[in-house]
Amino acid sequence: MSPTPTSIRSHNLGFPRIGANRELKRALESTWAGKTSSTELLDTARRLRAENWRLQQAAGIDLIPSNDFSLYDQMLDTCLLVGAVPPRFSPPGEASDLTPYFAMARGGDHGAARALEMTKWFDTNYHYLVPELSADQSFHLASTKPFDEFAEALALGIRTMPVLIGPLTFLQLAKPSGADFDRFSLLPRLVPVYAEALRRLHDLGAHWVQLDEPAFCLDLAPAQLTAAREAYADLRQAAPDLRLMLATYFGGLGDNVAAVCNLPVDALHLDAVRAPEDLERCLAEVPPAMALSIGVVDGRNVWKNDFDASLILLRRALTALGPERLFVSPSCSLLHSPYSLAAETELDRDIRDWLAFAEDKLTETVHLAGLLGPDGDTDALTRNRQAADRRRASPRVRNDAVRQRAAAVSSADLSRQSAFPERRASQQARLNLPPMPTTTIGSFPQTPEIRAARARFRKGETSAADYDRFLEAETTDCVRWQEQAGLDVLVHGEFERTDMVEYFGEKLAGFAFTANGWVQSYGSRCVKPPIIFGDVARPSPMTVRWSTFAQALTPRPMKAMLTGPITILQWSFVRDDQPRRDTAWQIALALRDEVRDLEAAGLPVIQMDEPALREGLPLRRADWRAYLDWAGQAFRLASSGVRDDTQIHTHMCYCEFDDIMPDIAALDADVISIETSRSNMELLKTFAQFQYPNDIGPGVWDIHSPRVPSTDEMLALLRAAAQVIPRDRLWANPDCGLKTRQWKEVDPALRNLVAAAQQFRASP
Ligand code: GLN
Ligand code: ZN
Repeated sequence: MSPTPTSIRSHNLGFPRIGANRELKRALESTWAGKTSSTELLDTARRLRAENWRLQQAAGIDLIPSNDFSLYDQMLDTCLLVGAVPPRFSPPGEASDLTPYFAMARGGDHGAARALEMTKWFDTNYHYLVPELSADQSFHLASTKPFDEFAEALALGIRTMPVLIGPLTFLQLAKPSGADFDRFSLLPRLVPVYAEALRRLHDLGAHWVQLDEPAFCLDLAPAQLTAAREAYADLRQAAPDLRLMLATYFGGLGDNVAAVCNLPVDALHLDAVRAPEDLERCLAEVPPAMALSIGVVDGRNVWKNDFDASLILLRRALTALGPERLFVSPSCSLLHSPYSLAAETELDRDIRDWLAFAEDKLTETVHLAGLLGPDGDTDALTRNRQAADRRRASPRVRNDAVRQRAAAVSSADLSRQSAFPERRASQQARLNLPPMPTTTIGSFPQTPEIRAARARFRKGETSAADYDRFLEAETTDCVRWQEQAGLDVLVHGEFERTDMVEYFGEKLAGFAFTANGWVQSYGSRCVKPPIIFGDVARPSPMTVRWSTFAQALTPRPMKAMLTGPITILQWSFVRDDQPRRDTAWQIALALRDEVRDLEAAGLPVIQMDEPALREGLPLRRADWRAYLDWAGQAFRLASSGVRDDTQIHTHMCYCEFDDIMPDIAALDADVISIETSRSNMELLKTFAQFQYPNDIGPGVWDIHSPRVPSTDEMLALLRAAAQVIPRDRLWANPDCGLKTRQWKEVDPALRNLVAAAQQFRASP
């Protein structure tokens, strides 16, 4: 049905590809294990794409994406599309031969070809593969994926809008292989490949193509904007009759707005969830021939849309643009939303009523577009208002005691009693640690036996008492092993935990869990973030039982393990009815009580992990200060309610700390352990230059690799660290938790680590 002139069109940017029941995950893993053929994998992929297109068509979406599907990652697909395959990988031949593709994703040739690096996609928890480009990089059209998928959908009777990662964003996210150079100098070489792809899509019958350029939501240099203008002028010329939709998301255009509105494209997509304030400026700047797709339905969260609020924005746009120039859309690809609420039959009915997953977001988008015209579904509007009212009025989202306490926090609650040097002296008097103390980051191997025991317990095949005894035995063995290996500060091993956020969420009020709310993290890996729907409170102690059990086993200091407030926030779906900082504050208060209970129970050392602190940084530098202030305060609120002689550790990984060193130091943890081994202690220079004031444990064993480092190797790293950090403030530890490792690696590696520390003590 072609739209009547007055009906407003709907547009979707991308759909989850992992499958309603993670069919793609299973198919991938079974192919990698050699259990099924790549033909079967490709069949599953084709079936999933067809289901997704039909679902979007049935929902009434006008612009349905294609090429948003990927067997692993859309940036990897783009590398293959433009022929950016590093020479260590054999070039892809037949499209059905997936070996080179998966080698780039996961490493290949039996370890000889290192996989592409992986990093977070903007501020999401999705990881993309980082293109490696050389200064003399050449490009050519090297894959037919977007054409094949367009044709595949057309054969089903659906004329899709192919999606490509735009050339600016592709280069922005790439890294130089070899010496650094200006990546944007490659744009003139890259653009002809895009031009050819656009021409081919047009020849195949595409009316629209979506170019994803979230890079326009970053701080860009004027030269980048100039380069983008030239690139898009060339693309325009290459396919004059094809309509181009430039999709920006995850933030506002800010000072890039004029430059973006001047690009020769037919439509511009804006993220009106993240940056509703940008709309007015865009309406003022948008040229008369350009349409806007207004992303009002949040693609990054799970809450039902507030139709009334969205309609205010959309009506404003409608008045300014007219119906022909307006699209209604989700804020970004729905890749970041769970697939379907239909599977959540076990979820609390009240809470379920407040949620919208990817499928529901399509319907919301279509309803909103309809409600702008005369024949909108007013029943849908009424139902939407009623659900919003029920959520607002629900006693389950409010806990007045928590609110009063959060409001009563004083600045004294945000700092330790004494400064670090005094604390250090009282901690040393209590702990009596040797120079260069050794410790680990918390978890020990989650063996197949542990996972099997947990599964039996969850299925009800093992009683709680038996499972508890099993965990006690595992913990006891682990503590004994650490004593025997000669570690100084021990841990209990975290055998009772699966996920570092889920474990706490399950014990806190205000959190809900889904049965099937999976979101792709990378490749076949999915995460199932908890949903924070209400005020957060701690009904009872969460970790004291295991930490005290472990401490009672040994005279050596036991380190208790907590996940910090920002990491809990960052790895959950967070309520949208109050600022994130307020939710972080409530989590911090709950953790503060836990820290105090651990101290009272006699735990002398407490670690609060914050691996996600850095990834929460806003995309624009201008917004960093505010975030770092409240995030730092939340950490301090959680961790500083202890005596001087209780030692607080923190741990961070994936770190590019260079720009935020003062804020890391301001957390005022007594000890920080960090990931440094992969970069050969590069990072330590940052700590040295900044003169980091407290103790540091540079990770000297890269636990992400199965390789066991030798004593000499770790000793060399410790000596390198001692070149830049005063020796008496150094610790020796691995660079992250050991839960994914096996005992056959952990046993020799930690013994080597203890030996390295001993040799260092003897001759630094
Ligand atoms: N304490 C956690 C562990 O050891 C830390 C995990 C992390 O940093 N991601 O598993
Ligand atoms: Zn870590």
